[in-house]
Order: sequence, then C-alpha cells, then structure tokens
Amino acid sequence: MKTRQQFTSQDIMELTLSQSHTETCRLYIQTFGCQMNEYDSHCVLRSLISRGYCITSHITQADVIFLNTCCVREKAEQKAFSFLGRLRRLKERRPSLRIIVAGCLAQQLGTGLLARFDHVDLVVGTRGIPSVSHLAEEVRRTTHRMAYLPEDDPECHYDTFPETIFNSPVASPVTIMQGCDNFCTYCIVPFVRGRERSRPSEMILQEIRKLVDGGAREVLLLGQNVNSYGSGLKEVIGFPELLRQIHTIPNLLRIRFTTSHPKDLNEDLIRCFADLPKLCKHLHLPFQAGSDRVLKRMNRGYTSSEYHEKIQKLREVCPDIGLSSDVMVGFPGETEEDFQETVRLLESVQFDTLFSFRYSDRPGTKSSQFPDKVDESIKARRLKELQGVQDAITRRKYLAEQGKVKEVLVEGPSKASNGQMTGRTHQNRIVNFDGPSNLIGKAVDVRIVTAFSHSLRGDLLPAYLKGSAPSTENSKEASCSGK
Ligand code: SF4
Repeated sequence: MKTRQQFTSQDIMELTLSQSHTETCRLYIQTFGCQMNEYDSHCVLRSLISRGYCITSHITQADVIFLNTCCVREKAEQKAFSFLGRLRRLKERRPSLRIIVAGCLAQQLGTGLLARFDHVDLVVGTRGIPSVSHLAEEVRRTTHRMAYLPEDDPECHYDTFPETIFNSPVASPVTIMQGCDNFCTYCIVPFVRGRERSRPSEMILQEIRKLVDGGAREVLLLGQNVNSYGSGLKEVIGFPELLRQIHTIPNLLRIRFTTSHPKDLNEDLIRCFADLPKLCKHLHLPFQAGSDRVLKRMNRGYTSSEYHEKIQKLREVCPDIGLSSDVMVGFPGETEEDFQETVRLLESVQFDTLFSFRYSDRPGTKSSQFPDKVDESIKARRLKELQGVQDAITRRKYLAEQGKVKEVLVEGPSKASNGQMTGRTHQNRIVNFDGPSNLIGKAVDVRIVTAFSHSLRGDLLPAYLKGSAPSTENSKEASCSGK
C-alpha cells in the first residue's frame, strides 16, 4: 500500500524541532510501512508533544523510542527486527531508555515481542494507538514491561488526539477508515488491523478543515479499502458522497485517496473523476496478478477482463488519469503462463508506476498453507523481468511529459535538487523547479523540460502563478470529458 514519500518521521521531526519544548523527555520516532503507519506515528507525536515531550532526530539522545512496524511482507518484518536488535546496546548503555513498539507486527506478535526482545518495554497493537501517550508515561514511571492489544476501536478513535500544534504539511494524510473485510488469501491486514471501521464523516470534515487552517492544501484520504467507506456507520454515506462533501471545503485545492479495491470501484466513484475538479487525476488500483486462476486463488473478487473494463471506464471519463498499481510475483502455484498474463496486463494497461513484490508467506494467512510454493530463484527472475517491462513504460511516460505545462502543487524545498522547489502534478509525478519559497502551498504552472526516471524538472511559468484557486489544468490539457 505504500505509494510515495508523503509524510515521513523525518519530516515530522524537522517540522517540530524548532517548535518543540526544551523539557526533559526526548522522543525519537521510527516508522516502517504504509502511510497509515505514518499517520498513526503523527498522532502519537501530537499526543506526546502535548504532554511536554520534545522530539530529537538523534536516536542516541532519546529517552523514549517509538517504533511503528509493518508485517505485510517478510522484508518489512526483518527490517523491524533488525532495528530492534540494534537498540539493545543503546538500552544497555542507558537503562532508563524506554522502547515502545507499535503497529501491525506488534499486533501480530504481542507478548512474543516482549519475550524475543527483553529490552522492549511496551508493545501496543494497532487499536491501541490512542492510548500510547498515557502508557508511555506508565512505563517511564515504572519498570513494568507490558503489551496492550485491545480488540475494540469501533470508530477509529482519532478524535481523542490533541489538535495539530504545528503547521500542517501542504499535503496531509487523513485516515477515514481502518481494517479490511476482504481476506485476500495472502494478506495479514484483516488479522492485524481488524474488521472495517469508518470514521463518522463530520469527524473527518472537521479534521480536514483544521488541517487547511494550518496550511494544508491537499489531503490524502487513507484506508485499507476506501471504496467501502461508510459501511457500519449510523449515517448513510458512501465514499463518493464523502468526496463530494470534502470537495466543498474552502482553500482545499486537491484530494487524493488510497487504497482502492478494484472490485469496489463503482460507476459513482468513477464519475467523481469527471465531476470533482479538486480530485486529483490519479488512481492507485492494485491488480496483483493478470491470471484469473491466480486472482481466484488470491480471493481478489475480480477477473483480469473486469479489471480492464474499469480502467477503460476511468479513461473514458478522465483521459489523462495517472494510474499506479501493486503486483505480486511467485504466488503459490503461479506458472510461467500465469506470470506472462501478468506481463501482458502490464503492457496493455500501461501504468505510470508500479509497486512490485515477491510473494512471501505471512503466518496465519490461507496462502501460507498452500503447498505449491514457487522457488525463490524463479520469483527473483520474474520480478526482474516484470520490473524491466515497467521501467520502459515509466520511462516512455515520463519522456512524453517534456514540453507540456503541468499544474504543480508546491510542497517545499526539494531534497534531491539543491535550491529548487518540489511539488507534484495531479498525476502524482514529482516536479522540481527553480522558484521562491513563498510558492509553498500554491498551485503553479510549470513547463516540463527534462524527464528523469522517477521525477521531472521544469521551468516555472510566472504568468500562470495561481493563488488558492482550484485547478485550471483542464483548460490546458485533455480535459475530463465527463462522458
Ligand atoms: S483488500 Fe486484500 S490486500 Fe488489501 S488489505 Fe484487504 S485483505 Fe489485504
């Protein structure tokens, strides 16, 4: 589900360093995994800062280390284990250091983490995030080690966090729902994030209004499956209606969302790409495999041709929509022919970008019990072939941008290009250009001059400098026809 660098712990630290208190307890945050984990870490940061903590970017100086983990793939799990292993020596040097582990791996392993890492003080499951701040106080006061793994969190209690106490990033994430009811056979998310729970719409709207007041101009709506937003709520509301309501918020320029499940992408939502100018012309729609046989064993709930039909409808409504996706190679039983069907899907859809992974068994999932595992060397070869095909497509798509004028929402100084500003197009492409810092938070027009493998460079067109007006991109490019 991780799609782009949006809101890292490092960003959080830089944001707050200059504004934090000088009190005693120094907090270091490390976040692995998806944007929802980034969002959760940000909520924890808000809570702890409101209790007088300050943030440090030097791990060796921290009094409390908060690690937010992911276990969606084996690699993510190993990353967390190796990070935790490195903390042992720090704790030996400073026994007063408190180490908190949260997130999906914490939910999955629970007290097992305390047993495996005797230097960890507190383990908090995915539904325990709102309680981290008072539990952190508890473990600081005592030498008790504990695991907190609540079962219930019916409305995603993000409203219990204190308000943002520093400026919002130009592009700010907002969780709208949590959990998943789909049970794809390879996926651990329904087990570690629980069943689907949506936040009431008014709570979401209120949070976005505050973010906009604090400087946000774009929101990224987060959920494991945003398309099923609303189910289980007392109010009658679906995701398209939520989008329409968010669209009315003044001074908000852009709306994005992730992740969408192809089987739940309905006509009403597709129409939103034509009807709502603030909705970015970009969709991340994971397809996972091109073979119907594999899709069925994955329990994805759609066929390859149904996926194609939805892409076609999206492009009819919004011809210049940018598309990205997730795909997996080496699912148990995947034959060479199955894999070639995945390559063919890739070639026919022509995604802008693709996130591709090797299948790995996740304990407790159905597919981990499937007997016909694919050899690691075959997975590696297939992944390389797939990535080669996609790299060529991405390169072609980026080159095709040269010479075009794109609307870019300026997010801040570029980390990659010294002295330049950076932002993204509607289609989620990164654009760097020379420009003053007072453009941050504004939508500007940039003529693309150079295409790199994963970013673009351009020249600012001063004549098109815009304030807080909604996008006028449609007037310069192929418009969403609304057919
Ligand atoms: S839709 Fe499938 S892959 Fe996505 S979170 Fe739910 S179970 Fe996992």
